[in-house]
Amino acid sequence: MIFVVVGLVSLMVLCFGKCLPRVNRAVMLEGLYYLTIMNFQSLNLIDPILKALSEKGYTAPTPIQQQSIPILLDGHDLLGCAQTGTGKTASFAIPILQKIATDPLQKKKAGKIKALIVTPTRELAIQIGESFTDYGKFTGLTNTVIFGGVGQNPQVKILKRGVDILIGTPGRLLDLMNQGFISLKDLEYFTLDEADHMLEMGFIHDIEKIIAKLPPKRQSLFFSATMPPNIAKLAHTILDNPKRVTIEPEKPTAERVQQAIYFVSKSNKIKLLTHILETAPCEAVLVFSRTKHGANKIVKLLSRSGLTAEAIHGNKSQTARQKALENFKSGRTKVLIATDIAARGIDVSELELVINYDLPNVPETYVHRIGRTGRAKASGMALSFCDQTEKPLLRDIQRLIKQDIPLITVHPFAEEKSDRPLRPKRVAKRR
Ligand code: AMP
Repeated sequence: MIFVVVGLVSLMVLCFGKCLPRVNRAVMLEGLYYLTIMNFQSLNLIDPILKALSEKGYTAPTPIQQQSIPILLDGHDLLGCAQTGTGKTASFAIPILQKIATDPLQKKKAGKIKALIVTPTRELAIQIGESFTDYGKFTGLTNTVIFGGVGQNPQVKILKRGVDILIGTPGRLLDLMNQGFISLKDLEYFTLDEADHMLEMGFIHDIEKIIAKLPPKRQSLFFSATMPPNIAKLAHTILDNPKRVTIEPEKPTAERVQQAIYFVSKSNKIKLLTHILETAPCEAVLVFSRTKHGANKIVKLLSRSGLTAEAIHGNKSQTARQKALENFKSGRTKVLIATDIAARGIDVSELELVINYDLPNVPETYVHRIGRTGRAKASGMALSFCDQTEKPLLRDIQRLIKQDIPLITVHPFAEEKSDRPLRPKRVAKRR
């Protein structure tokens, strides 16, 4: 509740007061974060699972976890349209573990298979098994993973001892079921993972045979990155009145960050930079210079206008670089001028603005540079200066990101017509 109040106040203050001191803005942004993003506690998870998640270093649920966990804890079937990398495994492993661990009859049913997860590849099966082990380490529940290509005896031995959760690939699973080593009569939770890959790999008949042996009274989960008609049809045969959750893949950097270009002569770049820094309501600005010498020069010229900036590049000592970075992160320095190599380790979560004082020679570097902003909750902005000689570089960048970067034509230092295009140097004739 407290976070919601802080969040609402933050929203108002952020809308009406851009000039807050940095520390207040940070606190306000944190409040805003809690307004929009929940934590694991608010999902009503039990302590043994919260403890395991905290040990894993997870602080907030990913979008698919935010949406799926409550649906599954409520007992609904789930149709999830999401890819690996979204936190999908925890979105089903956490509620399955919690439901089994809190079942009053669990003691009686310990060691009987209550959850089955079928996944197309051995690697995925192993990963899912590790996730169940990690998230369930304080619940006392057991799991094992079975897959083909290796001898079945060690797998059979574990199955005979009894497990609560079984993860497997279709072929070996069916094989061991047919040999009588797997009983699914106590099964309560069935998950079909990566259904689209499963069909691509020709597992459909195995899947149908497995489904035919499941108890009809169960909670079912079905995940697929894509949902063409044949997958939707398969989902329909497995699920009962499911809730649907769709997670779009994360947008590429170039779409996440607001970008703009200024055409400006080389000699006017410093004036334009000064103008932007004096007028932009930003607390942290990272400026990229192509050269170390250029970075130093920018710091010197900005200081003539009363603007404090620090430079980091390869000619500075490690201590000096560290100090400059700390000053920037803590907000003591608002503007940091960096070369590409020196900027590699910079991860400032609230970086609002990146300025490309020079365009990079390699177009991919542009994407890395602008990717420093617009991270986490912040929406970022990247402004680039482009003089006559850099126009071919701009063309390459736009080709790479497959979009035209909007051009800001009206600004006090718009490129003058007199800006001479580069001519090849004349070589003096020998007499
Ligand atoms: P998955 O999509 O399940 O393959 O998960 C992708 C990666 O995200 C895995 O390395 C997980 O350990 C990690 N992960 C899942 N959920 C969270 C979370 N809430 N916070 C941080 N990392 C997570």
